[in-house]
Amino acid sequence: MISRILVTGGAGFLGSHLCERLVDQGHDVICLDNFFTSQKRNVSHLLDRPNFELIRHDITLPIFLEVDQIYNLACPAAPGHYQFNPIKTMKTSVMGIINMLGIAKRCGARLVQASTSEVYGDPDVHPQPESYRGNVNPIGPRACYDEGKRAAETLCMDYVRSNNVDVRVVRIFNTYGPRMHPYDGRVVSNFIRQALWNEPITIFGDGSQTRSFCYRDDLVEAIIRMMNAPPGFHGPVNIGNQSEFTIRELAELVLEQVGGESELIQKPLPKDDPTRRQPDISLAMKNLDWKPTTPLAEGLAKTIEWFRSIDLSDYKPPTPNYS
Ligand code: NAD
Ligand code: UDP
Repeated sequence: MISRILVTGGAGFLGSHLCERLVDQGHDVICLDNFFTSQKRNVSHLLDRPNFELIRHDITLPIFLEVDQIYNLACPAAPGHYQFNPIKTMKTSVMGIINMLGIAKRCGARLVQASTSEVYGDPDVHPQPESYRGNVNPIGPRACYDEGKRAAETLCMDYVRSNNVDVRVVRIFNTYGPRMHPYDGRVVSNFIRQALWNEPITIFGDGSQTRSFCYRDDLVEAIIRMMNAPPGFHGPVNIGNQSEFTIRELAELVLEQVGGESELIQKPLPKDDPTRRQPDISLAMKNLDWKPTTPLAEGLAKTIEWFRSIDLSDYKPPTPNYS
């Protein structure tokens, strides 16, 4: 069945790929974005498709649209981006979801909220199941994002309980792939950019901290499955790849694939940087019949190929916070 679907943050890294998938499936897709951390280029190939529409709008402000489904992805996601204007980040998470839940309630639409592994903070349970309530510093530099996303989850579940709105929450773990902003400061984009341009590879701290990296296509498949799961399942559900790597291992893998002469250098570890992160995805496996299929080496090769194909001068650092 064809649906009218709103994707907020639809011009971003994950949103643009989601829009592409939904347009190809024949749905009527409205992509809404304020282009804070993205550019029209990410969706320019969709602009002449009759079932695709692009709206420049900021989700902290109300908007009236008639839709059947909403994917709420609008929010800066890289630490350098969300710390650039932390108050705006909190507003985007909280006022943004209030506006989107309002549309969902009025239209009887289903909503998928893009939450994050950051709700677990610097976890003292490993791997992290959905039942773990987290270890977040509420007054630290990451709090604008972590607590904003936590508050958004609260609003989602209160709309389920109080207003019977069909909301589904996905907690996304580190995801990478083509169309990451080359200057977003995230570890995969930084390391690939640095290796390709023979710059030093910047390891923050001693590189022993871990992350588990999920390829974009696996992630997007999971959130589409969450939207279309049978009624009654609201999550939250962890979505990510369980293979855990130290940041040093990632740097070595990128160097091995890119070649070049970059040296590995150490920089100070940012405050509150989580030491370990790995999703427990048993719930997603059971309820969504989903598990990631792209190993890191394969996903990195595709991402590196995309980075080789772009002209860096087409991308402006949206904030000064990148290495
Ligand atoms: P991204 O920065 O590429 O995309 C976010 C998009 O939202 C951008 O296009 C940006 O311009 C837009 N946006 C930001 N503030 C807005 C506002 N106020 N109004 C309208 N649009 C706004 O990041 P991404 O990696 O594609 O992340 C997408 C979503 O997934 C985010 O909500 C993020 O928190 C979540 N997420 C991503 C990851 C990851 O590893 N990529 C991990 C956890 C959660
Ligand atoms: N990191 C790094 N070098 C970089 C960028 C990031 O060592 O140039 C580290 C960062 O300190 C963190 C990990 O890589 O431990 C993942 O950082 P990212 O910003 O990609 O995501 P998040 O911390 O939100 O998981």
